[in-house]
Amino acid sequence: MDMKTPLIDPFQRAISYLRVSVTDRCDFRCVYCMAENMTFLPKKELLTLEELDRLCSAFVRMGVQKLRITGGEPLVRRDIMTFFRAMTRHLDSGALKELTLTTNGSQLARFATDLYDAGVRRVNVSLDTLDDAKFAAITRWGRLPQVLEGIEAAQRAGLKVKINAVALKNFNEDELFTLQDWCADRSMDLTFIEVMPMGDLGNENRLDQYWSLKDLRARLAERFTLTDLAERTGGPARYVRLEETGQKIGFITPLTHNFCESCNRVRLTCTGELYMCLGQEDMADLRAPLRASADDAVLEDAIRAAIARKPKGHDFDYSRQNVAGQVTRHMSHTGG
Ligand code: SAM
Ligand code: SF4
Repeated sequence: MDMKTPLIDPFQRAISYLRVSVTDRCDFRCVYCMAENMTFLPKKELLTLEELDRLCSAFVRMGVQKLRITGGEPLVRRDIMTFFRAMTRHLDSGALKELTLTTNGSQLARFATDLYDAGVRRVNVSLDTLDDAKFAAITRWGRLPQVLEGIEAAQRAGLKVKINAVALKNFNEDELFTLQDWCADRSMDLTFIEVMPMGDLGNENRLDQYWSLKDLRARLAERFTLTDLAERTGGPARYVRLEETGQKIGFITPLTHNFCESCNRVRLTCTGELYMCLGQEDMADLRAPLRASADDAVLEDAIRAAIARKPKGHDFDYSRQNVAGQVTRHMSHTGG
């Protein structure tokens, strides 16, 4: 493949990580992510699998080395394995270093082996609770046993599983050690995510759900010896090792600014909008240039112009007990 000049933004950050939402649909309705009655986009608005391939391939030519597929629920998109298999060629060429996905796990029992065969080696599975009734309540439509079967299937297929749990006050505070033990027993790393002020707050005020990871970390430290790890991913995650178990625990605090200076990522929605920053409204439409011409040069110009607009950082702020810098998109729109 013809490699191009790498993507560098105005703050000298190299863009090497692309997260792609392949659908806005989902088989769950997690309360912090979606409304119960969601209206989804008409099919024609979505990028086709061929268009997703063209776009991702253009990014890979321009230096993207890590591709994370997300949604909505990526594994409910029809024929999504065709897309995963198409991306294998970039792994084979060495241009792409990692192809991965974030999933709710509901379809993993079906697809784990196909994903492994396409070159996926790690998956992030979102799981906030190990209690059947609480799981049904938080996901509204999900069933825990199906997800647990999916996780087992993924491990059997050879995929390394990391669990992502949203930290929710009065919901999974009491499961901190249960979740941690459960993951340790299965050799899975665990990352906690601070709940973000995404979407319309409406009658669910996310400040009520907000459990700070500072507090969560302090509680972990009551039982374990925590060693900070230097490793950074260019994203909002920080890691510690629990000396007693050797397990890695991550903390994703998107509301702090401390990671923006090393931000290496951009996000593509399922309709081809490129968000240069999760916390800003500015985006670039890549679907128009994609559909306007079969010539990838037009697309590449649009991508470069977008990266030239990547802002320095975001403005989320929970201080003074109101949510400032809030953006009105739902996570299922930009992909988590
Ligand atoms: N459906 C897949 C899943 O659940 O893993 C992928 C998409 S989902 C939007 C990606 C991640 O975003 C999940 O881990 C989910 O828990 C997280 N998420 C959704 N809404 C959130 C919010 N308001 N604050 C923090 N994390 C959120
Ligand atoms: Fe679906 Fe994931 Fe959003 Fe839950 S967090 S509703 S599983 S997209």
